[in-house]
Amino acid sequence: MELEKLRLVLYWSGLALFLLLELFFTYRQPSVSKLKRWLTNLPLSIVNGVVYHWLYFGSILAILTRNDGGKYGLLNQYPLPDWLQIVLGILLLDFVIYIWHLLNHEVPFFWRFHRVHHSDINMDVSTANRFHLGEILMSGLVRLVVIYAFGISLLSYILFEIMVNIAIQFHHSSIRLPAAFENIWMFLLVPPSMHRIHHSVKIKERDSNYGVIFSLWDRFLGTMTRKIDQDKIVIGLGSHRDFTKLGFGRVMLMPFTRRSL
Ligand SMILES: [Zn+2]
Repeated sequence: MELEKLRLVLYWSGLALFLLLELFFTYRQPSVSKLKRWLTNLPLSIVNGVVYHWLYFGSILAILTRNDGGKYGLLNQYPLPDWLQIVLGILLLDFVIYIWHLLNHEVPFFWRFHRVHHSDINMDVSTANRFHLGEILMSGLVRLVVIYAFGISLLSYILFEIMVNIAIQFHHSSIRLPAAFENIWMFLLVPPSMHRIHHSVKIKERDSNYGVIFSLWDRFLGTMTRKIDQDKIVIGLGSHRDFTKLGFGRVMLMPFTRRSL
């Protein structure tokens, strides 16, 4: 139960903190009603959180507890120091989300669901949890298999949850940061400017910068885009520009409507 409390605390405190930072250090003024966008994004995250908890949380906890004996999974087959096992666990989980994210763009069936996330016309901290339930169900299953197969430890998973929650809310936030800070941050992690390129309507830009916590995978696997004029980036999908058709009900039906880019 403590783990689930941690997820809730991280979500709501992160939302409040980055919302405050967005108010004081605004990167870009909203082009559509923030309230209306939040009325879509918040219910999506709440539905996702409840279903994820109901469906996966018990299984994840059971596997983590089983793994804690250090007998099961690939990471437990070799005598590694505790700290290295924790670091490898976090890197592995982040690498799997990178690959999963890339597949969400490359496989048309997955894209049907993932385009809900990209359909947000403005980008702010609430975009971080704007996902279709179908994507959450599939990614939850992927996470479950990875934790089981690699024998991720409880501590490794808790640290990963903390990092991933902060990372995802931070890099979706509409915060103006000094260029020098963004460049240093990008050396290892994902700053907002890097992820903003990923939310561009231009498909070439969108199909890059898949990283969630670490920027390493994009850098080493050739999927990183950097030198883009940030002020010229148009956020969203080229095929869904009508904001009045992007309410909660419409986005829930989006995966089942005509295929679009
Ligand atoms: Zn994406």
